[in-house]
Amino acid sequence: MAEMRKTERLYEGDVWLRRFEARVEACAPSGEKWEVALDRTAFFPEGGGQGGDHGRLGSAAVLDTHERAGVIWHTVDAPLPAGETVYGEVDSLRRMDMMQQHTGEHILSGLTCARMGCSNVGFHIGSDAVTLDFSKELDGPTLAELELEANRAVWRDIPVEAWVPDPEELSRTPYRSKKEIEGALRLVRIAGVDTCACCGTHCETTGQVGLIKVLSCIRYKGGSRVSILCGRRALMKMNEVLDEQREVSHLLSAKPGTLGAAAGRLLAERDALAWQAERAGVALFEREMAGETGKAVRVICAPSLPAARLRKAAGQLAAGARLALVLIPRGEDGWAFALSGEGDVRPAARALMARFGGKGGGPADMIQGTLEAAGMADAALAEAARAALEGMT
Ligand SMILES: [Zn+2]
Repeated sequence: MAEMRKTERLYEGDVWLRRFEARVEACAPSGEKWEVALDRTAFFPEGGGQGGDHGRLGSAAVLDTHERAGVIWHTVDAPLPAGETVYGEVDSLRRMDMMQQHTGEHILSGLTCARMGCSNVGFHIGSDAVTLDFSKELDGPTLAELELEANRAVWRDIPVEAWVPDPEELSRTPYRSKKEIEGALRLVRIAGVDTCACCGTHCETTGQVGLIKVLSCIRYKGGSRVSILCGRRALMKMNEVLDEQREVSHLLSAKPGTLGAAAGRLLAERDALAWQAERAGVALFEREMAGETGKAVRVICAPSLPAARLRKAAGQLAAGARLALVLIPRGEDGWAFALSGEGDVRPAARALMARFGGKGGGPADMIQGTLEAAGMADAALAEAARAALEGMT
């Protein structure tokens, strides 16, 4: 393709421009889609951590926007004839969201880098959260202060200025830069907060960001990864959190503000019940064990015994026996078993697994595994297993 003229970027002059007319310069198929270049566009191409705009061009849907060598390419779902004039409309909700997240990031990054003497080494507007990576570890209290300071900058409604300085002005202006930028450099300044080299779209004033909310901070590559949400997304998140809080509050019959304590009580209750159940299961097993005393082959099916007790139970049952088998049901998955006894019990375990289906392993005096025994009730399985083991002695 012959070298193409660079696309005129209408969004640089007016970030709120949503509808525009332009001429189709090129349209090339790309898989099942098409890539369209215009003489001018209000669609922002993906870059600097900000996603490309979506919207419509004529009758085609714009699914993404990218830039290559100064030409802005719109990924569309239908071809548009070159030379024709098309009417474009940018998805304003998505763009507004990008502008809020992006400008919020400038504010928090600018304040963090200035305060902590670190750099912002990564930025991504994801579908869930916006992540900011810093070269230093940040602690909770510091981040809480920075969050408050960032929101103060929002409340002050400071203008966001963007311009391309001449080399002389650039040389005497301190600014942050995420990477080496080729060609004319565009600065974005929020007075008293941040000056950063950036090609993205921003709110006109910090007030348009609405709210900057830090969600989390984790250690990341020797520094920190901070997740934030701004503006409309922060509001949506708040609603989501409140909905969840209402649901938990209803389930626990506890008021918001007391949910942590209520969940703590519930867990303590659960632990106490589990302990009681274990005690009852063990007591029941010991009673059944008494009924097996004196037998050479002992078999107990113990549905109330906790699975963690299986091995120990088989060891207890084996004292003075030739073979001792303990079975615990595993729901739909059959049975867990432990087989112990005098000498090598492996042949007996193999006989059991051959008879009922299953697998297992372990040392010669203690084989653990599972039996399939499809559809067999406790008593029937115990009886059949006893018969199989007695046939071995
Ligand atoms: Zn920016």
